[in-house]
Amino acid sequence: MGTYYQWVADLDATDEEAGALGQRVVDDLVRRGVVLPGLSSEAALGGQGHPVGPAWPETVEHPVPGGVSGEPPWGLEVRLGREVHDGAQYSVEAVTCPRCSVRRPFYGPPDELGPTGTDEAGLRAFYEAAATWRDGGEADLACAACGTTAPVTRWQAEGAALASLVFVFWEWDELRPEVLRWIADATGGHRIVDGPGKV
Ligand SMILES: [Zn+2]
Repeated sequence: MGTYYQWVADLDATDEEAGALGQRVVDDLVRRGVVLPGLSSEAALGGQGHPVGPAWPETVEHPVPGGVSGEPPWGLEVRLGREVHDGAQYSVEAVTCPRCSVRRPFYGPPDELGPTGTDEAGLRAFYEAAATWRDGGEADLACAACGTTAPVTRWQAEGAALASLVFVFWEWDELRPEVLRWIADATGGHRIVDGPGKV
């Protein structure tokens, strides 16, 4: 068992603007009836969230065989401040170099990545750089393909996001794509990525 959530991260929000942008997204979702404006500790695990509004069924796919619980979600939590979002599962799958666009997978066949099928050194480098960034610093990742180094925030990560603004949809069935578009529109066209999580 566990508690499931879907995280939706804004890759472009700066530390300074994250609070105002988060409120703008909440205001939009309140206007659409997806969540309520007030905060409740029952709408998020270990924090405060906005309880679901009457229009929440329109935000999830119907029907997805076996994929929809039909239960109302808990709510939406807005998290501000630098954080590494990967669903609490260390689930980053690959990163892609911002310079040469070569993708570095962290998992693969043992003949390419060693007996465990895992690029341990690559994973360690990513999470160390991500932790440095989270703590307010700057950290580069080196590209084995083109030899350049670039800030970890400029690499495209799959299954993880480094962001100062994230929306956590608690116990929510998988969001329809248009919900991600609503969020992107409310932020003024920022890059939005999402992934699953469990605690
Ligand atoms: Zn490169």
